[in-house]
Amino acid sequence: MCLDRLLEHAVAGSEATRDSLSRALFHGLAGSTTLKTFASRYGMRPGGFARRFIAGEALGDALTSATRLTAGGRHCTLNHLGESVRSVEAAREAVVAYEIILQGVREAGLSCQISMKLTQLGLLLDPRNREENLRRVLDAAGDTYFVRIDMEQSFSVDPTLDLFERVWRAGYRNVGVVLQAYLHRTADDLKRLIDLGAGVRLCKGAYQESAAVAYPAKSDVDTSFVRLMRTLVDSGTRPAFATHDPRMIEAVKTYAHERGLSADAFEFEMLFGVPSDLQTAIAAEGYRVRVSLPSVTSGFSTSCGGWESGPPTCCSY
Ligand SMILES: Cc1cc2nc3c(=O)[nH]c(=O)nc-3n(C[C@H](O)[C@H](O)[C@H](O)COP(=O)(O)OP(=O)(O)OC[C@H]3O[C@@H](n4cnc5c(N)ncnc54)[C@H](O)[C@@H]3O)c2cc1C
Repeated sequence: MCLDRLLEHAVAGSEATRDSLSRALFHGLAGSTTLKTFASRYGMRPGGFARRFIAGEALGDALTSATRLTAGGRHCTLNHLGESVRSVEAAREAVVAYEIILQGVREAGLSCQISMKLTQLGLLLDPRNREENLRRVLDAAGDTYFVRIDMEQSFSVDPTLDLFERVWRAGYRNVGVVLQAYLHRTADDLKRLIDLGAGVRLCKGAYQESAAVAYPAKSDVDTSFVRLMRTLVDSGTRPAFATHDPRMIEAVKTYAHERGLSADAFEFEMLFGVPSDLQTAIAAEGYRVRVSLPSVTSGFSTSCGGWESGPPTCCSY
């Protein structure tokens, strides 16, 4: 089901659809046109459905949410919605959007992470450009901010990991990457990243994939998640676990405890708005909880004059 249909169903109150929402949301959020349409159709009113899932139409709103969450003991990640740009110009625009987000985070005095999809920065376009774009974001993040590279469809895993490794070997240490438990290949990828000493965020995986590359059965994905989680707890650097699944969360807590890891040696990551009572309970036990906030910098390219003239001042942040 495409995202706008899914959102329509969710608004109509289908509990079954809501269950599958977080999976669809992760990659669906990137389809910013749909979300923007959805948000404007249903409004961003306080308490409204769109409001729960989208931190705000503008970076200013995301920063306000991040400030509130940080005051409540959460850690935050901000991203700029979008993926799979088709032109070098669009990729550069995404770079500027991230520079703006980082500038906003810095001015707000927040210690948020940034997460992004490399196809936003032109991963599937000119190889020289994509590396330059990534370096620009990492340079903007500097020593202060950590940049997490999301993992996308299986065909983009190799180019994503290769580009990640290039910047890592070039000396960047303010960057980590995501791995997906549903892919058959992930144990090997995890070993590669552990050998590098890189930080990994483990998730189940959000895209439609064939049985040739991914486990079709949910139970197999869960088994794989637990197996990979154990490797990460044993040998990973700053492990992060992105899941809303209480069984996976319990498995992480139990294994980390068995292995003598302190509660702040790893973290749980969840999407903004889902499910905040679970976040509260985990944080109350002393675990680090990071909330991912999408920041819809809507109308950036048209209303703000594009990237060539430098960061525009009309975006609210
Ligand atoms: C911070 C973050 C970053 C992510 N990054 C990536 C990425 O880079 N690449 C990628 O492919 N995917 C990413 N994902 C998506 C991820 O791969 C899963 O598709 C998504 O999180 C759903 O899996 P799950 O483990 O949360 O639970 P599921 O397997 O979907 O559900 C298992 C159980 O968890 C509980 N649950 C799940 N969702 C909810 C909810 N919304 N409200 C209440 N209970 C719920 C329910 O009890 C449910 O039965 C990310 C997810 C998060 C939260």
